Amino acid sequence: MTLLERFLKYVSFDTQSSEETGVTPSTPGQMVFARYLKDELESLGLQEVTLDDNGYLFATLPANTDEEVPVVGFIAHMDTSPDMSGKGVSPRIVRNYDGGDITLCADENIVLSPAQFPELLAHVGEDLIVTDGKTLLGADDKAGIAEIVSAVVYLQQHPEIKHGKIRIGFNPDEEIGLGAHKFDVEKFACDWAYTMDGGEVGELEFENFNAASAKLLFKGRNVHPGYAKNKMINSLRVANRFMSFLPDSETPEHTDGYEGFYHLIGVSGDVERTTVSYIIRDHDRVRFEARKAEMQRLADLVNAEYGEQVVTLELKDQYYNMRQQIEPVMHVIDIAFEAMKAAGVEPHVKAIRGGTDGAQLSFKGLPCPNIFAGGLNFHGRYEFVPIQSMEKAMNVIVKIAELTAAR
Ligand SMILES: [Zn+2]
Repeated sequence: MTLLERFLKYVSFDTQSSEETGVTPSTPGQMVFARYLKDELESLGLQEVTLDDNGYLFATLPANTDEEVPVVGFIAHMDTSPDMSGKGVSPRIVRNYDGGDITLCADENIVLSPAQFPELLAHVGEDLIVTDGKTLLGADDKAGIAEIVSAVVYLQQHPEIKHGKIRIGFNPDEEIGLGAHKFDVEKFACDWAYTMDGGEVGELEFENFNAASAKLLFKGRNVHPGYAKNKMINSLRVANRFMSFLPDSETPEHTDGYEGFYHLIGVSGDVERTTVSYIIRDHDRVRFEARKAEMQRLADLVNAEYGEQVVTLELKDQYYNMRQQIEPVMHVIDIAFEAMKAAGVEPHVKAIRGGTDGAQLSFKGLPCPNIFAGGLNFHGRYEFVPIQSMEKAMNVIVKIAELTAAR
């Protein structure tokens, strides 16, 4: 099987995850796919192939050298986004893309156009795999799985490339933020790993947000409005006053790069009682802590204005920037850099404005940056992946294995 054949087979499995079910994996389709992959890995002659009840599939490509080489893992997720159906995916290959519009579905006039998606223009002359406009494609992250399996096969076929022990990990439920939760890092037993789950060719990510949630409960005092003078406290108005203290410029819609923010995600209430929810994000740990302190300061300020406890704040840390876990082991990044260059790919380091499974794994003791898998426009009908990008990702995996052994 080629990389392309593998990818096309993988996207035929419906593995959409769900936030509703509360079980792992969140949907049975993921287990069906995991079993298929397990059979494939076994038939390829991989060792230590294990699939646990939660749908985590691990396997080993043994070392082909007697030298002491660190154990490196490659990880990808089997689920697709809950945002759009991944059932009955009907991929089409646009050969030698000419830079024009691609009609995905003529009936419904769904067009993948460089006018809306200028990133297409970086792939003129390549072979793009697109959808029929009715589902997502699932390159996120089946491209990653196809690349990892194909890289391992390549290494098997090229024994002249010396490498240490390589571990493979395929997990469920990344798209609902639970991919790392039940990932058994001890059993995986790697010195470090890479998730193959980024987008455009060259992407290399080892920084993500520090993240917290903030819940504010405003308590009012309802009195008949005709007799309310100096008695009523309207919790809606108190909440509004609090919200007006936070800077307009520090919101998701006004920030990018390394700029953090306060993001108002929910308000509900009446005169008596109002709840307000925020998420707080910042790459920098010091600024992140300062943002939480600022929230507390503003809550205290509002309480002082009213001379009583009208608001209580509950802060909860959600995840942290993996950079602090990666910095002590920067060779993990250096090797990825060198591997990309050796594979003819220009590395492009990008700070993730969100979280990743890799961040959670890094804090569980498995340093785990993220590398491109080549797909673009994730989570919707406009998703596509150039075959050449998948080949580059596969080559990067091979080079990482080779360079790790050579060092
Ligand atoms: Zn993904």
